[in-house]
Amino acid sequence: MQNYKLFKNSKPVIAIDGTCISGKGTLAKNIAHQLNFDHLDTGSLYRYLAYLISEKKIDEKNTQELKDNFDFDEIKKVDLRTEKITKLSSVIASKKIIRDFLIDIQRNFADYPPSGIGSVIDGRDIGTVVIPLAEIKFFIDANIYVRTKRRQHDLSEKGEVSEYNQVLKQIVERDNRDKNRKLSPLLMHKDALLIDTSELSKIDTLKLAVKLIDRSGKLKLINR
Ligand code: C5P
Repeated sequence: MQNYKLFKNSKPVIAIDGTCISGKGTLAKNIAHQLNFDHLDTGSLYRYLAYLISEKKIDEKNTQELKDNFDFDEIKKVDLRTEKITKLSSVIASKKIIRDFLIDIQRNFADYPPSGIGSVIDGRDIGTVVIPLAEIKFFIDANIYVRTKRRQHDLSEKGEVSEYNQVLKQIVERDNRDKNRKLSPLLMHKDALLIDTSELSKIDTLKLAVKLIDRSGKLKLINR
């Protein structure tokens, strides 16, 4: 049985949780780059498991087979952003067996980031469950209409035509699944620093986040 007891990370961690398409992934990447930390996008881990289950036909309950087939290098090579994978990842993320499977991988990354310095980890439950003692916790959100437009923009960049109401509906569905599931629901930790990116550019979001990290005094920004 998975042990969700208080885990103490041995290297500094900036935990970034938030709603889908809020800009948390981009922010995580940018902070990691600025601080020379490593970035882990935990959404891609859920997406990759969805890929193994749907494309490689691995039974989601067969953790040994999932483990044997889990290939970190493949995560960057396969398309995990398809409609099918996006939906399935959000569905399997409510299952205990899936969350248990991924928690050790995430904590291992936190303790052994490739840089040896620290990590920025983004997802839905990083500050609340996975790395509860993360030095810095952010919660990133943006208004639903802005997120819908952003998603449409991403789709059009990929050459896909989308319908506003359909995209909005899918985002609301994903939000609801993440917020209302029993296990590790998306919620804002009481110590999290809130950033609403609705009216912020990527660079302004980064500047604000770095200012908040600095002001917290919890992490020396020696790598800048
Ligand atoms: O962040 P991204 O949209 O790529 O994540 C894919 C799905 O994985 C989300 O819809 C969410 O349900 C799930 N997820 C999660 N916990 C995380 C990261 C992602 O439940 N830490």
